[in-house]
Amino acid sequence: MSLVVVGSVALDTVETPFGRAEAVLGGSGTYFSAAASLFHPVRLVGVVGDDYPVDELGFLRARGVDMEGLERASGPSFHWVGRYDFDLNTAHTIDTRLGVFADFKPQLPASYRDAEWVFLANIDPDLQLEVLDQVSSPRLVACDTMNFWIQGKKDALLRLLERIDLMLLNEAEIRQLTGKANLLRGAREVMARGPKAVVVKKGEHGAMLYTDEGVFFVPGYPLEQVFDPTGAGDSFAGGFLGHLAAGGVVDVEHLRRAMVYGSAMGSFAVERFSAGRLKDLTVEEVHARVREFRRMTHFELAERAGEALGSGIR
Ligand code: AMP
Repeated sequence: MSLVVVGSVALDTVETPFGRAEAVLGGSGTYFSAAASLFHPVRLVGVVGDDYPVDELGFLRARGVDMEGLERASGPSFHWVGRYDFDLNTAHTIDTRLGVFADFKPQLPASYRDAEWVFLANIDPDLQLEVLDQVSSPRLVACDTMNFWIQGKKDALLRLLERIDLMLLNEAEIRQLTGKANLLRGAREVMARGPKAVVVKKGEHGAMLYTDEGVFFVPGYPLEQVFDPTGAGDSFAGGFLGHLAAGGVVDVEHLRRAMVYGSAMGSFAVERFSAGRLKDLTVEEVHARVREFRRMTHFELAERAGEALGSGIR
């Protein structure tokens, strides 16, 4: 039944037009766990250095995130330094300090190895592969990545694609990975390499799901103020996979609903700096926002009215 995630457990230094946060809680594994654990038990694999404020991960523990797979190594923690400009849609990496991730050899605790659901969050694709090798017979494996790894570790990433069911990435990443400017063609190219489904995240503009059965689109939740977009993608993935794992069914209907939970979680993540908003978020608040999505996107077909209007114009 369990959902295992490997990802970065990081310190982030982030600058946005609204301010700067220095060495705060971040990382793809952290955001994913914070979001997914609202829906389903999560087991985290990662490493932190001896400078990490582990007490700040207490809210994850309180939410039932299993941290047996989170190693503490001597040396500096992974530290990402990034900046967002006025439109807040594109992260500009200023520095990526791998720290203890450079020598990390993930060893999954025995209790993690029978995981049904696996999320290989944005991290070195070689580490994603090492984790996958240690899971006996997962039902669904999904992965994420980013420009840093597409550029530096493309071969390992392409090997990984052959072994996964679903890939989530943003529009710039799929263009970089496939060389296709058109997202539909890019998604097809990714699917030709293995995954049966591709989710392309489009920041504030929502996300698209591509499967053999066609395309599904979810908007971004319209927020009046976005403070810090960091972690939106990982929180999307957490809402998406957490909801899917909780339902236990993978078909197009469940994937579509998971897209809405993903988008809802991404929108909460950006309301405050770092993982601040995810800490006190309740599952009731998420369901309420999901109902808002339904209200915002529902419409009745009015073919009869259209016909009448058409004949009137003629
Ligand atoms: P996103 O959800 O795409 O905004 O991801 C944000 C998180 O990704 C930040 O908290 C960073 O710590 C983390 N991150 C940034 N660069 C990398 C990288 N090269 N590998 C793994 N994690 C990263």
